[in-house]
Amino acid sequence: MSLVTASNLTKTYRIGDIDVPAIKGIDFVIEASSFVAFVGPSGSGKSTLLNMVGCLDHPSSGTLKVLDTDIATLDRRAAARFRGEHIGFVFQDFNLIPVLTVFENVEYPLRIVQKWPAEKRRAQVLRLLDAVGMADQADKRPDQISGGQKQRVAVARALVSQPKLVLADEPTANLDHDTAYRVLELMKKMRDEFRTTFVFSTHDSKIMGEAETTFVLEDGRLQNGGSHA
Ligand code: ADP
Ligand code: MG
Repeated sequence: MSLVTASNLTKTYRIGDIDVPAIKGIDFVIEASSFVAFVGPSGSGKSTLLNMVGCLDHPSSGTLKVLDTDIATLDRRAAARFRGEHIGFVFQDFNLIPVLTVFENVEYPLRIVQKWPAEKRRAQVLRLLDAVGMADQADKRPDQISGGQKQRVAVARALVSQPKLVLADEPTANLDHDTAYRVLELMKKMRDEFRTTFVFSTHDSKIMGEAETTFVLEDGRLQNGGSHA
């Protein structure tokens, strides 16, 4: 089953009177439960593309379907609801809330939607912290753990509300190579355990081999139709 489908997708930013084409007509399909990388140098369009898949920005033309929803049809509110229900995010700089503990950071998305009773919420947070190997650090604050551990917590937070899709824009850019590799291995393990689709971007060709499907972006275009490892 395909989870994301892009057809002749473009995105052009407008700065004053100048058009800046960032995505120049690309096609791809992302299968459910796959582990996918968009790889390309800085400025190639990775963030622009992931922002559209994450319903944070609209395409300029073409179509982008996520879970059978044409994301161009979503207004700001509907997009926010759609994200809350279906998409988790992992960021380059972790984006943990510094005044909250590890446990509270992972719990945070569940408190916002308020549909989970407290006991169920607690069990789900502990399940995720255990899955990412951070259960024994639950009471620490972000400044008391390493970068690799922060990203493990961020992966747990992205998964806590059981999204179909997790998007990670350069999740390893602030990590050394060994730690980067281990974070991607963790994501793959989480994919196996929860059957969540993971899509990450990187400018580091050394770690792109971790993905099962790789799309190479260059200057807003895809070099291939997605090569499968
Ligand atoms: P990457 O994430 O691969 O580094 P981006 O998607 O950030 O690439 O950028 C792709 C192109 O779009 C670049 O030329 C960048 O300067 C331009 N761009 C990105 N975001 C904006 C924006 N908000 N306004 C104008 N131009 C942008
Ligand atoms: Mg980027």
